[in-house]
Amino acid sequence: MTITPLHTLSGYIWFNDQLVDWQEAKIHVLTHGLHYSGAVFEGERAYNGKIFKLEEHTQRLINSAHALGLQVPYSFSDIITAHKLLLEKNNISNAYVRPIIWRGPESLNITNRILSSNVAIIAVPSSPKHMNDIVLHVSRWHKPPPNSMPPQCKSSGHYNMMMTIQQEAQAKGYDDAILLDQRCYVAECTTSNIFFVKGDELITPIADVFLNGITRQTVIDIAHKLGMKVKEKYVVLAEISSYTECFITGTAAEIKRVKSIDIFDEKIIFTDDKTTKLLQTEYNILVNS
Ligand code: PMP
Repeated sequence: MTITPLHTLSGYIWFNDQLVDWQEAKIHVLTHGLHYSGAVFEGERAYNGKIFKLEEHTQRLINSAHALGLQVPYSFSDIITAHKLLLEKNNISNAYVRPIIWRGPESLNITNRILSSNVAIIAVPSSPKHMNDIVLHVSRWHKPPPNSMPPQCKSSGHYNMMMTIQQEAQAKGYDDAILLDQRCYVAECTTSNIFFVKGDELITPIADVFLNGITRQTVIDIAHKLGMKVKEKYVVLAEISSYTECFITGTAAEIKRVKSIDIFDEKIIFTDDKTTKLLQTEYNILVNS
């Protein structure tokens, strides 16, 4: 399978309030965001020309910037309007959408008042892959504790380690890894939240030290509407073998069934998929409505 490098696509990118030709949307090599990860971003999905939960993503983007003291040069409604304009001008219905705010190239000091804040929004044509039966292991790396990095902030700095952890998992033949938190409770995967199923109950870790994903919250709402019980609790590795299903959630991943988890030298295989399939169907209806 050939992979098209994204920077070679065509279309428009929203770049500091201008619609710029895709090939011309370039930044300087001194960009602060490149050197010190001075950037925050979102991952969104457009279905049939409409971005699912755009307001929630935009608010999280602004909150992430504020958490790092990064100025947001446009208002909430400017950012919403820019997203809509971008999809319209590119004539894209189904896309993965990436707004990003980053510090500019004006200084190599880690802080400097002359550093600018820049914003871009990129819409990459894409439809969900509906990939199931992923295999996970437990990473040797833990989530940073909440007093080391704000857990609800989607900062590029956070993804430096997530990338390393995912690479390490894939090199060992897994799709992704589960990270424990500083207390050794199950937290989440590198770029998604995790759920387990037991009987008619969903179990998911309490989102106090990791991102409380928008898809996670949507799945909890769907489950409540379906009359299912949802238990948010601290999950330890030893209890995972008592669950019959496991799935991960995220805007890009949507809902993916997990086939097995290798917990160091023990393999847990999930035998059922009834609840996961039901939630996938309901999620699909919701995002396309
Ligand atoms: N955790 C992390 C670390 C993530 O990067 C993501 C993807 N944004 C998620 C969870 C899932 O969040 P959401 O459902 O809002 O996409």
